[in-house]
Amino acid sequence: REKYKILLRDMNKTAAAYFHYIMRHTEHGKKAYEYFKGRGLSDETINQFGLGYADIYRDDLYRYLKGKGYTDAELKDSGLVVIDEKNGGSDKFWNRAMIPILDINGKVIGFGGRVMGDGKPKYINTSDTVVFDKSRNLFAMNIARRSRRKGFICCEGYMDVISMHQAGFDNAVASLGTAFTFGHANILKRYTNEVYLAYDSDGAGVAATLKVISIMREVGISARVINMRPYKDPDEFIQTLGSEAFEERIKNAESAIMFEVRMLSEQYNLNDPEERTSFHNETAKRLAQIEEVLERNNYIEAVSNLYHIDKAGLTDLVHKYGIAG
Ligand code: ATP
Ligand code: MN
Ligand code: MN
Ligand code: MN
Repeated sequence: REKYKILLRDMNKTAAAYFHYIMRHTEHGKKAYEYFKGRGLSDETINQFGLGYADIYRDDLYRYLKGKGYTDAELKDSGLVVIDEKNGGSDKFWNRAMIPILDINGKVIGFGGRVMGDGKPKYINTSDTVVFDKSRNLFAMNIARRSRRKGFICCEGYMDVISMHQAGFDNAVASLGTAFTFGHANILKRYTNEVYLAYDSDGAGVAATLKVISIMREVGISARVINMRPYKDPDEFIQTLGSEAFEERIKNAESAIMFEVRMLSEQYNLNDPEERTSFHNETAKRLAQIEEVLERNNYIEAVSNLYHIDKAGLTDLVHKYGIAG
């Protein structure tokens, strides 16, 4: 069993080297190289992340790996090729810019492949295999765990992570095109209880942030939220404003609770007395969940100042909802 995992990781490593070689040394491959360069990546970053290109031929990787002695059964188990009874083997990734995914020990376990341009689907990922479990691996964790920066930065996308690392934020990780799970949180928790969230600034990103905050809270991590606005994601932010501006945003990251209250506030028209009252009630419910007395009082104070709410009134309301603990 363990031997088979080693075989699959070796095969993934061979594939990564192949994709990288094709990108750097073939005519077709230039397209992927130019794509990554066009997204602001340096040669150093391209090499560090082992980026590559899956060619337009339907079975070149299949034939290459067969030539290395792998059997159809092994190839199928790697998720890199599809074996069809009639048509034989064909590659899963075709004409895509390739991003190898490494496990925490730095072994290649899968790939994300991005279409170069506007085609769909934007990304294809290796499906789960014996060595590739999306709920237990974080992209770039092999680097981030050795970072000297404080805590981790957690974001949505591969390109976000790569851009952040290039800009010096080598503590950035991402879940692999799936939702962030308790499994992910527990991995982070082994190293720190400080995590910055840098999800996309769109509606889906905000929803994801709220979800991740509650997962983090449950495992005992205090999350802080980095504001990316007016940019879409960390990659766009950094490529536009640079690393110093991003460092500033990290410094000003908002505590999870203040972020949650602010997101609540955006659901109401605070100039309307009735809606404003609803906002106060929902906020009080949220604050009532804070177990530490001093912490709770500090947040009551901060929230009443920020939203111009009568402090005694808010305190009463918090108590009405039954304080935790
Ligand atoms: P880019 O900057 O290259 O456009 P992104 O990371 O900003 O990509 P998002 O649409 O924000 O793209 O998606 C975030 C992440 O979700 C991606 O990095 C990828 O891991 C995953 N993802 C996006 N689209 C798909 C898809 N169609 N299938 C599987 N995973 C996807
Ligand atoms: Mn191919
Ligand atoms: Mn992006
Ligand atoms: Mn994005």
